[in-house]
Amino acid sequence: MSSKRGLLFVISAPSGTGKTTLVERLVQILPNLRMSRSYTSRAIRAGEREGVDYHFITRQAFEGMVAENAFVEWADVFGNLYGTAAADVESMLAGGQDVVLVIDVQGARQVRQRGTDHTAVFVMPPSFQVLERRLRGRSTEPEAALQRRLETARAEVSSYREYDYVVVNDDLESTVVRLQEIIAAERSRVHRMTRVADAIVRTFFTEAPRP
Ligand code: ADP
Ligand code: 5GP
Repeated sequence: MSSKRGLLFVISAPSGTGKTTLVERLVQILPNLRMSRSYTSRAIRAGEREGVDYHFITRQAFEGMVAENAFVEWADVFGNLYGTAAADVESMLAGGQDVVLVIDVQGARQVRQRGTDHTAVFVMPPSFQVLERRLRGRSTEPEAALQRRLETARAEVSSYREYDYVVVNDDLESTVVRLQEIIAAERSRVHRMTRVADAIVRTFFTEAPRP
């Protein structure tokens, strides 16, 4: 097991912005980054796989996990329950892996309120019109559910100030690069570099054998 604890990232965006697409690209590029697999009471969509996209469980099983305090955060999103298992995240972080939670605005607030060390990124669609086009293009929701997601998006985009970074998902590849830059910048923060930096500093004060 690595002695260095991983970093925790939270990414939120209105449904249809492209956060799943972006994070899937990121975890391909960054070997040390893992996406947490959420639990949900939502029905499985065509093309989704149990244990890959989500852990699909019944509402009753989900409520049992809530009662056991098994979630770092959980929320009712569009009438379904979604949550992040505390044990899954903790074991990845303790193993030295960086973890990204792709969760809604309510879940991100809970992580913040817990005081857990993390970096939160809000991904914005370029406009309402583009968001609608992307949601329709994905063709995963019936019209009523799509309208509900667009309505929720209005409240979600208004909460971007609660986050540490804002990224606009215009061109996919450049947005992936911007997210990589954020992760790199967070790794270089002084309080996360003290072990490495102090070891270097020590070489300036210890007697080195002369060649
Ligand atoms: P979310 O996870 O935020 O709900 P998805 O990752 O499912 O969104 O993306 C929604 C749709 O938008 C998908 O069809 C995806 O291929 C498309 N998409 C994602 N990012 C971009 C982008 N930068 N430009 C154009 N289309 C995009
Ligand atoms: P979808 O049903 O399209 O997969 O996801 C709908 C919404 O649920 C998205 O906004 C997504 O970010 C959110 N979501 C997915 N997993 C979690 C989770 O574990 N916790 C919270 N709070 N939201 C989640």
